[in-house]
Parts: sequence; structure tokens; C-alpha cells
Amino acid sequence: METGIYVRVSTEEQAQEGFSVRAQEQKLKDFARIKDWSIYKIYIDEGISGKNLERPAMQELIADINNGAVQNVLVFKIDRLTRSTADLIYLVDLFNERDCAFNSLMESIDTQTASGRMFLKIIGIFAEFERENIIERTKVGIERKVREGYSICGTPSYGYDRPKNQKIQTINEEEAEVVRSVFDMYVNQGMPITGIARQLNVLKIPTKKANTWESTGIKRLLSNCNYVGNVRHHLHDKEKKYSVEGLHEQIISQEIFDSAQRLLAKNRKISPKKKPRPENYFSGFLECALCGYKMRTHNSYKLRKDGTVSMKGNYICPRKTLKACTAVGMSHKKVEQAFSDYMLQIDDLDSVEDVEVEAQQKRENLSLIKAYEEKLRQLDAKERDAMSRYVNDEMAFDSYREIKKMVDKEKERIYAEMERLRAEDDSPAIDKSDLVRGFRENWDSLSSEQRRQFLLQFVDKILVKNEVEDGEPFGKVTIVDAVFRLVYADPSESAAKAVISRFPEPEAAASN
Ligand SMILES: [Zn+2]
Repeated sequence: METGIYVRVSTEEQAQEGFSVRAQEQKLKDFARIKDWSIYKIYIDEGISGKNLERPAMQELIADINNGAVQNVLVFKIDRLTRSTADLIYLVDLFNERDCAFNSLMESIDTQTASGRMFLKIIGIFAEFERENIIERTKVGIERKVREGYSICGTPSYGYDRPKNQKIQTINEEEAEVVRSVFDMYVNQGMPITGIARQLNVLKIPTKKANTWESTGIKRLLSNCNYVGNVRHHLHDKEKKYSVEGLHEQIISQEIFDSAQRLLAKNRKISPKKKPRPENYFSGFLECALCGYKMRTHNSYKLRKDGTVSMKGNYICPRKTLKACTAVGMSHKKVEQAFSDYMLQIDDLDSVEDVEVEAQQKRENLSLIKAYEEKLRQLDAKERDAMSRYVNDEMAFDSYREIKKMVDKEKERIYAEMERLRAEDDSPAIDKSDLVRGFRENWDSLSSEQRRQFLLQFVDKILVKNEVEDGEPFGKVTIVDAVFRLVYADPSESAAKAVISRFPEPEAAASN
């Protein structure tokens, strides 16, 4: 049966999940395939409302029904066809006159039966009713709920619970205490956002979803007006978003909240400038061996007698200023020396173990990929099975949709995981001993910029400490540990060169 698939989305609907042209088109094509219909054409009206039939693709479809090219019309939902009862009656008459069948996926309608035709009429009336009333009422209802101070989101914010069948969220005292201390750390103690996240993780305080904290989560928390008793709507739409006074209790005083907002705005302005100077190429890599915090870069400038300015780079533990750590600051020069010493004393032997571990990892990746491929096949079979059960009336559309949704989600996860595994397998073959050898042979001749490139590519973090003897002002800097981004094992000699060829050649006369 020559089938015309008709798809329509209005501009507002395009944003809704599962309603896009692609989503509708795919489902309809699946359906036609299961039914063994040949698809004559897919008619698409995008960004057009269904209030009348003056739509290009609709007019084309009507013409093709009239000239007999299309003997069967398939739509996702009846309101795709039209939202007007008068137009629906016109179309149903046309279908009858031209002996054209009509199918709607959502409503399971087949106009080849009398009850199908009857149903069509009723559905058409409902479709119009729905447009004018139900949708409006739902939108207005949500809006009103927010304006009345109810929070409408599924999961309440950290610090609150919403007991089942309760409309208003209640304070979760344990979490509320954490919220208060986060605001305190940020506003009163001047801690950086990453530091706060780390602090919570160190204290083993989980997020609402039992995860560890990240700085984005802390930022969201600090800017959440739920804590001063307000509720928000259209959070991600700059123009539409607003907040009103909620019905729930507040956790944070307006004063502290406002201070936090001022600080957040200020820090937003500062951060883009934070690009490290090449002279401080260890910026971002050093961690305090005493407390585990990221070392901060601090430059001091001096005016020379000849009028030029000299710069001295230093690294300091940020918790030192909070009196939470006793680490002593260190100069860039000393860290440089300590890093060279560290790289020279690394025993090549411990990389042999790495090689075996990495090879083993590669084999595991391969069998994981195989397992995922099998899982994908099973999911496809599951989807096909559900589709045919739905088509044969053994399953409701909602159940089919649930299964399809679950399958799609699972497939997406598997594809992402496979991509990651494949990327790992494609990584260049460099092991730790190659890296160390490459370093020893080339480090001294590299410019600051190239050294930074080296760190960015191969080093995750460097744990550093500064031991000061009594009475001495500066002390001795040592690298306690360095974590490398490794890099896949292939015990070939050429790999060592790959290490160096991956960043630019030393510039002839410049730098250093
Ligand atoms: Zn420290």
C-alpha cells in the first residue's frame, strides 16, 4: 500500500522532547516497516501550526491523495493532521471519497473500520478542545503554582525534602547545615569554590544524588534562591526566568545570600584573565603535599636599577592563608630544580609493570567492546519485539514508548562507553619509561611555553612540599609524587621520539 507519512511540528513543539520532526519521522517509518507498507513520500510541515490546511506539505499530500498516488496516510497523532474539526471532517470525507486509509500511531485509528471513522470524529473534537483548553490550562496551572510559591521541579534542592504527596518542601536539617557552611566558607572565609567542593568531599559529605561535589554544583548551590525561601521558574531561559516568594522555609539569610551573589558576579569577571604566564608553567599542576590543595601561583615584581621589571614566580598553598595548612611557599626556580631531580631519579624498572598493566587493560577493553556489541544486538531485538507486539495489539502504545525510550537511553550510554574504550585503544603508544627518557634528553632545551605543553599533555599533578629547617627562611623543595597521564604501552624504541615530537620544536634563538 503506497503510504504518505505526514509530519507537522509547530514552533513551540519543536523544543519539546520526543516531538521533533526527526523523532516523529523515525517512529512512523518504523511503524510502516513493521506493517510492510511502502513509503510513497514523507510530507513535512515544520514550524507551522495546525489551525488550517494552508500548509505546503499538507496541500501536496491532498493533491497526491486526489491523483491516487497515496492510498494510505500515516500520522503520529491526529492533531498533527489538523486542529480544526471542520478541516478534519473535510479530510475524512476526502479519505472516504478516494478510498484512502488513515492511520494514527498514538490513537491506534484505522479508518477502514466503522468504529475507526466514528472514533476519528470524536478524537478530532477532542484535539481542538485540547488545543484551546487543556494545554493552556496546564501551562497556566504550572505558572500559577510557581507564582503561588510551590516549587514544581521533580527533585527538591539540596537542603530540602519533599515528602510524598506534599506540595511544599521541608528542610532536611542535616543537608541544611551543609548549605549554611558552604555559604559561610564562601562568604565569610573567602574559600574558592573548588576548595569548598573538595572540603565536602574530604569530609565524605555526598550530594543529593550520592555523588562527590564538583565546583559547578557548589556554584549552583550558591546561586539557588530556594535557600532564601524563593522559588524559580524558567531557570534556563534568560528572558522568561523569574523568582517569587515560596511557601517553604528559608535556610540562609537574605544578607548572606546577597553577599554570595556579589562575590559570584565578581569572580565571574576575574576568571577569564587567569591564563597562566608561560614563566609559571607549573601553574595548575602543583598540589600541596601537606593538605592536598592545588597550589596557587603568586608573582612578585621588582623594579631593577636600569628601569626594567623583573618577575619572580612563586607557588603557595591557598589554605596557608586560611591558617588551615602550614606549608611554606616556594619559588618557581626551586620547583623547576626539584622536578628535574625527580624525573632523573625515577627508576625505569617500575615502568615494566606499567607495560603489563596497560597491555592487560587493552585486552580487557577489547572484550568489553565485544560485550557491548552483543548488548546492542539484544537491545535491537528487544525493540523489534516490542514494536511487533504493539502493532499486533498485544501491547499498549505507552508501554511500547516506555520500552523504546529505555532502549534508546541504554543504547546512547553504550555508544558513549564504546567510543571511550575505542579512543583509549587508539591512544599513542608511549609508556612511562619512554616519557622519562624523552624528558631527560629534551627538557633542558625546551622553552617555558614548550615545557608547559609537555606538562599539559603528560602530567596530571605534581605533589610538592617545602621542608624548612628551624631558623632557615626558605627551605628545600621536593617532589613527593607525580601522576602521569599514561599513555599506552608499546615497548618500541621509536615511542620515545613521539613524546617530543608531540609538542613544537624548540625555537632557535627565542625564549629561555
Ligand atoms: Zn597545604
